[in-house]
Amino acid sequence: MRIVFIGPPGAGKGTQSLKVASALGITHLSTGEVLREANEKGTPLGLRAKEYLDNGCLVPDDVVVELVAERLDGPDCERGYLFDGFPRTLPQAEILDRLLRERGLPLDGAVLFEIGEAELFRRLAERGRSDDDGYTIRKRLRDYAALTEPVAQYYTQQQTLHRIDAVGTQQEVFDRISRSLGFDA
Ligand code: AMP
Repeated sequence: MRIVFIGPPGAGKGTQSLKVASALGITHLSTGEVLREANEKGTPLGLRAKEYLDNGCLVPDDVVVELVAERLDGPDCERGYLFDGFPRTLPQAEILDRLLRERGLPLDGAVLFEIGEAELFRRLAERGRSDDDGYTIRKRLRDYAALTEPVAQYYTQQQTLHRIDAVGTQQEVFDRISRSLGFDA
């Protein structure tokens, strides 16, 4: 199965994507996690991403796409994968489509986490990651509305979008996702 998770920062994508990927026996790939690790290790990818991560800005599309394209053909992706936090812009979604078409492996579903801003602020303040200060949160939420919401519209047009109410316990949200994607947990 090939799935992507889309949603604003703090919506619970990280937690749910680990659970869903494990339930389906597919590889979980968080572009944010890969970029943060690369940044901490000071690799060339990390050096390119650093200023964007520090300021809560999206990393340029070509950097993220290169990172994803490298992973798609890895042996751990043969059974499928769940991308967490990718695609985040329309060009990323279009390039992902092309990469999948070239391989004859279409996307099975895009899951959109729906949640209000007040709840997001509350959750992000609790999480306390280094890019979770008030200014950066507002910047990331603005970017989400401007750049990532069009990705949800794109998948709506392609009839692959699953809208999930992301407010509830971890188990409740997980159950909604598994029902919507049609797998038994
Ligand atoms: P996340 O862990 O998904 O919240 O991502 C953390 C940070 O990594 C984001 O604020 C961006 O700077 C960067 N990032 C992660 N995924 C992407 C992506 N698909 N496109 C651009 N930047 C990304």
